[in-house]
Amino acid sequence: MTALEGHVLTPNGFIKGRLTFDGSRIGAVNGSPVDEASVRESALPIIVPGFVDLHVHGGGGADVMDGGEATAVVAQTHVRTGTTLMLATTMTAPASDLSAAFSGVAQAIAVASAASAARAAAHIFGVHLEGPYISEERLGAQPNFTRHLAMEELQALNAISPIRLVTLAPESSGNLEAIPALVAAGYKVQLGHSNASYEQTKAALDAGAAGFTHLYNAMSALQHRQPGMVGAALAHGEHAEIIVDLLHIHPGAIRAAMRSISGLYCVTDSTAAANMPDGEYQLGRQRVTRCMGGVRLADGTLAGSVLTMDQAFRNLVQHLDLSLVEASRRTSTLAADYIGAADRGRISVGAFADVVVLDRNLMLTDVFAQGVAVAHSA
Ligand SMILES: [Zn+2]
Repeated sequence: MTALEGHVLTPNGFIKGRLTFDGSRIGAVNGSPVDEASVRESALPIIVPGFVDLHVHGGGGADVMDGGEATAVVAQTHVRTGTTLMLATTMTAPASDLSAAFSGVAQAIAVASAASAARAAAHIFGVHLEGPYISEERLGAQPNFTRHLAMEELQALNAISPIRLVTLAPESSGNLEAIPALVAAGYKVQLGHSNASYEQTKAALDAGAAGFTHLYNAMSALQHRQPGMVGAALAHGEHAEIIVDLLHIHPGAIRAAMRSISGLYCVTDSTAAANMPDGEYQLGRQRVTRCMGGVRLADGTLAGSVLTMDQAFRNLVQHLDLSLVEASRRTSTLAADYIGAADRGRISVGAFADVVVLDRNLMLTDVFAQGVAVAHSA
């Protein structure tokens, strides 16, 4: 039976004590409360919930769009940097490419259910369908295979692997009207890759859209007489994902979003080049280059990231001055709650034993996914 000792972050704050696993679940958490300043000064291990990443395209040289074994490789890569729950994220692509990617995700979910120490992986909760129902004016790094939303296409894909998030542009023909039906069918709608006005975005929220996809990036910006999608998100949004590689967004804009959106949570938007050396990689159907801490198309457009969640956590604490408690919420608990995974993203009895152990410099020393020790990369 695995037992860990140190400073354990529970839903009620840090305790100095002991965490015991019961198989794949947390069996017991015992200790006495301790304040965060003492935790930071101490050399004891810092034990926090495993990270939750709802926007993962790739890692370890593999991309979800490659289909086949690729998603399994992605999940096995990201768990080594502390991600214990993820959504495999697809790109705008022809229908046949999407169904091949979904089949790969189904295969990865099957592999993971037979997890062992040798093949430990992030739990794949399902798919984030990013496009194809987005604006061709706000593609970012997505290739232009945008098309009209079709419920039949969604249902067919969902039958292969469960869709947990759908990113769409509300101003594209028919999309705003489709939101209530999507929500009624159980899909969570996020707004992004969009040129929508403030008014169109507000209407989409009123229609049931739940959040925003990589806030600020690939969406209409805030101007003081034309607040755009960013303005609507800051004024009305309750949930949004944000990329904190400190390359996609200025820290000041991240701070503004944190003050405005209570449910703001971190994603990596990571590509095949995550956890890999500099060089050329494939992102969906596009060639991208990893260099200088980023991934770009030939014209310099940022094309996803090489961010990992452990680095996101460190960026929040070391560059944005968040407390460990707040950084953990924004890299784990908020996203788990948003997606309806109530037994993930927290260290409490009965929850899955998804745990990250950090040293005082916040570097990973151990990762456990559903109680299985992972050979981590730090
Ligand atoms: Zn995107």
